[in-house]
Amino acid sequence: MKLICPVCAEPLRKENKEAVCENNHHFDYAKSGYLNLLVSNKKVHGDDAAMVKARTAFLESGGYTFLRNRLSELTEGSHVLADLGCGEGYYTGAFKAEERYGFDLSRDALKHAAKKDREGFYTVASIFHLPLPDESCDTAVTCFAPHAKEEIFRILKPSGIFIFVTPGERHLFEMKEVLYEHPYENTPEELDTQLELIHSEKLSEVMDLSNEQIRNLFMMTPYVWRTGEADRKRLYETPELNVTAEFIIRVYRKNA
Ligand SMILES: [Zn+2]
Repeated sequence: MKLICPVCAEPLRKENKEAVCENNHHFDYAKSGYLNLLVSNKKVHGDDAAMVKARTAFLESGGYTFLRNRLSELTEGSHVLADLGCGEGYYTGAFKAEERYGFDLSRDALKHAAKKDREGFYTVASIFHLPLPDESCDTAVTCFAPHAKEEIFRILKPSGIFIFVTPGERHLFEMKEVLYEHPYENTPEELDTQLELIHSEKLSEVMDLSNEQIRNLFMMTPYVWRTGEADRKRLYETPELNVTAEFIIRVYRKNA
């Protein structure tokens, strides 16, 4: 285990139901198996149980399987991999690495991840303050989460790679057509990084969604926060819908 103490940065070892460092700082493992290394007193929390439930139901219904399969291929041959903003571990569990670490702020999401993937190390921690030593990972992944620039650079070994997944221009466009009078295409996120871009690809598939899948998918999107009641109702009454899922996958390398 590569995790370090969030207080003194010494290595942690697992002892019964705790992780302990040589300075005797103790952290509890939850019953489901994830570790809580968040020391801040500030009120921070990730996605709540209802959002986690909707997202899990949608992902398990298979809509994004093609993305998971592609990410699994891209991580082949990794030794130590960190998934930053791993959520319920839908992608993390499919990564081909000898040691998999997943970080997120949502306890509800990590509970699910740890139960589903007993071999992964799932930890409550901020992706902007990772409990991992410098140059400890050969692969870092961020899928639909903020880019933690400094930490990614710090934890990657020389020649390590960073895989960044963002929505493509047409991602969920048909859903936005139902929700909004003037739907717009996404602007692909530019990445400010010291890493070298070595590969880029766009993955796209049209999903044939049931009403239940439409509702669950909507719950996963930022539109939840900015859609009025009448617009939401119109979407919720749509019996089925063909929706494009489009992802941009970029692979960067840390040059020695
Ligand atoms: Zn310590």
